[in-house]
Amino acid sequence: MAEKFDLIVIGGGPGGYVAAIRAAQLGLKTACVDNFVGKDGKASPGGTCLNVGCIPSKALLDSSKHFHHLQHDYAAHGISVKGAAMDVPTMIGRKDEVVKKLTGGVAQLFKANMITFYHGTGRLGAERSVSVTPGEGGDTVELQADNVILASGSVPIMIPNVEFDGEYIVDNVGALDFAQVPKTLGVIGAGVIGLELGSVWKRLGAEVVLLEALPDFLAMADREIAKHAEREFRKQGLDIRLATKVMSAGVKSAKGGKKKVEVTIENADGETKLSFDRLLVSVGRKAHTENLLAEDAGVRLTERGQIDVDEYSRTSAPGVWAVGDCVRGPMLAHKASEEGIAVAELIAGKPAHIHFDTVPWVVYTDPEIAWVGKTEAELKEAGVEFHSGTFPFAINGRALTGGQGPGLVKMLADAESDAILGVHIFGPNASELIAECVVAMEFQGSSEDLARIVHAHPTLSEAVHEAALHVDRRAIHRGN
Ligand code: FAD
Ligand code: NAD
Repeated sequence: MAEKFDLIVIGGGPGGYVAAIRAAQLGLKTACVDNFVGKDGKASPGGTCLNVGCIPSKALLDSSKHFHHLQHDYAAHGISVKGAAMDVPTMIGRKDEVVKKLTGGVAQLFKANMITFYHGTGRLGAERSVSVTPGEGGDTVELQADNVILASGSVPIMIPNVEFDGEYIVDNVGALDFAQVPKTLGVIGAGVIGLELGSVWKRLGAEVVLLEALPDFLAMADREIAKHAEREFRKQGLDIRLATKVMSAGVKSAKGGKKKVEVTIENADGETKLSFDRLLVSVGRKAHTENLLAEDAGVRLTERGQIDVDEYSRTSAPGVWAVGDCVRGPMLAHKASEEGIAVAELIAGKPAHIHFDTVPWVVYTDPEIAWVGKTEAELKEAGVEFHSGTFPFAINGRALTGGQGPGLVKMLADAESDAILGVHIFGPNASELIAECVVAMEFQGSSEDLARIVHAHPTLSEAVHEAALHVDRRAIHRGN
């Protein structure tokens, strides 16, 4: 007979594992099914985020940032280092250790919260039945639950005529594990992954060319911020080619038995062929629903292949919920986790709600880009009257002491009520600075509220304070 649970979660990423933990805290008998296989061939809960996404990319961004500073920035401090070298396998090994620590931590949290973990592929059938095909082989296990949360995540989108092989033409997984620094790296898509992983290999010495289909750089960000970021990244040596269409790409034999990736592009100059040692395809991700739903599961998909959910994450099948990358909304780990918590609480009979308007975005380049709320263009399109305040990091004392000049904070506030409608930051530690702005917006704060709050000196957060003052043209350390 099928083992019975209050809740079965399919998917052990930040959506699924967090939902399972919260459900267990609330006294629900919970199981989590995840099929991710780690580099050691074993179960590795934590999903894309912990295994091949947020965490490993940030580990490499950190390593490569140290190397870059050592070569380019330390001389100004009077520090000289001769013969600085990067040992790529050591860097990758460190990244793998961080991943192992965190995925192992998830497994321990499952145990501590008495969550039954199944390593295998879960398939939802009728009436919340779930069959699990074990990752290690063996018999299928039949389970049954009062509620099921689908948290199956996302997979990279592949484009036509680009022959992905996982070695020369790679997605995020391959680009996190190059055995050595490629001399030349082509990147299709100058989005979040392209910029983050492109930066990693650029800092380590690769020539990086970003091929972006759209004419605008980082189209989802505020235009002014994107303009500053584009200028800075070009200065850092990233070769960003906008309005460039990739027609085809394939691996070709080159001189000396080597292989190269040949890419045909089309832009205003016509059709051109480019050659790279490696090519990263990062043109977005799509919901992962393969092998997840039996025909009688009763779960409807959207036209875009996402699991169709309402504002409470309910699917079309009673008692079946879905969260994270496999549903609508931004593909962000913290969004997935908050949805997971909210669903667990709803299942346990508690009220729960997520404010999608205050989900922050961060791009972990150097400087970082972070934002929350509306962009200037979105407000204009919606016909909302607003005031804007800005403050550049070039005149922020703490940024200067740290040699972190470029960038700015931009705050948008309602012209009438002064409520903060959006904050956009390009600058050092933007990922941390944005948190204050998220809190302010969650509490329906105004620019006046932030302007009245005491900010420690000297800190980067003073730039947020000054931008808030500048909304009302009373910034102290800049002209108004
Ligand atoms: P996932 O993390 O994808 O987890 C889904 C899990 O379900 C996987 O383990 C999968 O194997 C498993 N699964 C799927 N189907 C089944 C099945 N039928 N049975 C059993 N298991 C199944 N977001 C951020 O917020 N910050 C970042 O810095 C960031 N960096 C990123 C960097 C990269 C390179 C990438 C690729 C993504 C990054 N993201 C980042 C996005 C983030 O990883 C995702 O938004 C997040 O992982 C989504 O969580 P999830 O739980 O919905 O899905
Ligand atoms: P993305 O949507 O950020 O960027 C994809 C880029 O590829 C876009 O600029 C798009 O215009 C371009 N593009 C699409 N088709 C193209 C084509 N045929 N040729 C050239 N360019 C093309 O997607 P991504 O970088 O693959 O990342 C996927 C998602 O993962 C992100 O949207 C984000 O949600 C998540 N992620 C988040 C973080 C973070 O939070 N720091 C980091 C990495 C990934």
